[in-house]
Amino acid sequence: MKRLDAIVVGLGAMGSAALAELARRGKRVVGIDRFDPPHDRGSSHGGSRVIRVAYFEHSDYVPLLRRAYEGFERLEREAGVALKTECGVVMGGAAGNPASAGMLRSAREHGLDVEHFDGGELMRRFAQFDVPRDWEIVLEERGGFVRPEATVRAALEVAARHGARIERNSLVSAWGSDGRSAWVECTAGRFEAATIVLASGAWMPGLTGVAGADRANPFALRPTRETLVWIDDADDAAWRAGRMPVWLFDRGDRPAIYGIPAFDGMGAPRGLKVGLHGRGPSLPPETIGAAVDPVIVDETVAATSERISAARGRRVAHACHCMYTMSPDANFVVGLHPERANVVVAGGFSGHGFKFAPVMGEALADLAIDGRTALPIGFLAPRG
Ligand SMILES: Cc1cc2nc3c(=O)[nH]c(=O)nc-3n(C[C@H](O)[C@H](O)[C@H](O)COP(=O)(O)OP(=O)(O)OC[C@H]3O[C@@H](n4cnc5c(N)ncnc54)[C@H](O)[C@@H]3O)c2cc1C
Repeated sequence: MKRLDAIVVGLGAMGSAALAELARRGKRVVGIDRFDPPHDRGSSHGGSRVIRVAYFEHSDYVPLLRRAYEGFERLEREAGVALKTECGVVMGGAAGNPASAGMLRSAREHGLDVEHFDGGELMRRFAQFDVPRDWEIVLEERGGFVRPEATVRAALEVAARHGARIERNSLVSAWGSDGRSAWVECTAGRFEAATIVLASGAWMPGLTGVAGADRANPFALRPTRETLVWIDDADDAAWRAGRMPVWLFDRGDRPAIYGIPAFDGMGAPRGLKVGLHGRGPSLPPETIGAAVDPVIVDETVAATSERISAARGRRVAHACHCMYTMSPDANFVVGLHPERANVVVAGGFSGHGFKFAPVMGEALADLAIDGRTALPIGFLAPRG
């Protein structure tokens, strides 16, 4: 095989987006995944992912999110599939809570449309919620959710249509680079290219054997195993997208509780999907197939029932695991490898990366081709 322009390792959210973008630009590329994506062994499954622009985590993400929304719309047109639903998002908690304070900061700095009101007004607009009347709430109409499996499938279809080679069920066991060329050994054989993009999600530590969490080392990241729960909505139209927004409520020192309303289609489990953000525990991705812990399921349903009393006593329709990959500061680790200029790393998406997949695909393609990007991702670079 002739030398390729780029090899993409891992075809989840980020790798599939990078492969599609490199192929769109006419590059000769191969994408390799140890499983058959979209699959349910990593971080990009479970039927839905929250999207929003007024980012409470850090306002530097806002320009990337604007671009990501356009990227989802482009992918919808290219693949002829609906990926995004803008049903609104509400976030809040006690006065001064970090979620609504951060949303307001991003909205102010970037001129975004949000509404700011109290818990009483939230319950007047959405009778499903039970929150203290003096809580502080922020609503962003453009928030909503995207479909992760359909997004990965669409990106891989687009990549293949533009000539990308895709190696499924092929484990990458070794990689290397001498600064000008790079190689990968995998079940399907050996590939050589000008550049490699490493986007192996919760297996980033496994690719080099580095454990822990260290911003200077893009492989020193900490996987956590999270639990998602679907509460039966069979007779409750009030929990469906269109009637209920996406929501997240701060709980002080305890993990925030969030929910994505029920919707039909694309094989997503039925019901109101809820989760405790970053509840963990810290475990490697090999444990994802273990039975869900009933204690965590009960904790999740109890936290939901505190804010949606109709959830109390309702049947759990489905529960599953999914991996977060935590960086030390919960910001992504994306950029050139600190010691190897032709290796691009994309990891540490810390439980909030999916909504960025299309814009990360563009940034990773820029870095792989030119070694730099005009997209404002400098704050995410691996650094000491
Ligand atoms: C419960 C949960 C809820 C979330 N909610 C949201 C949300 O609402 N909004 C949001 O924006 N984000 C959310 N996220 C985070 C988001 O889903 C992730 O940040 C994103 O999916 C990470 O994508 P990735 O490409 O890094 O990893 P993945 O999609 O897991 O892709 C990594 C790929 O690499 C492959 N791979 C690994 N090692 C090798 C190897 N050695 N050889 C070959 N292939 C390999 C794997 O098979 C996998 O396909 C959530 C995550 C979870 C778990």
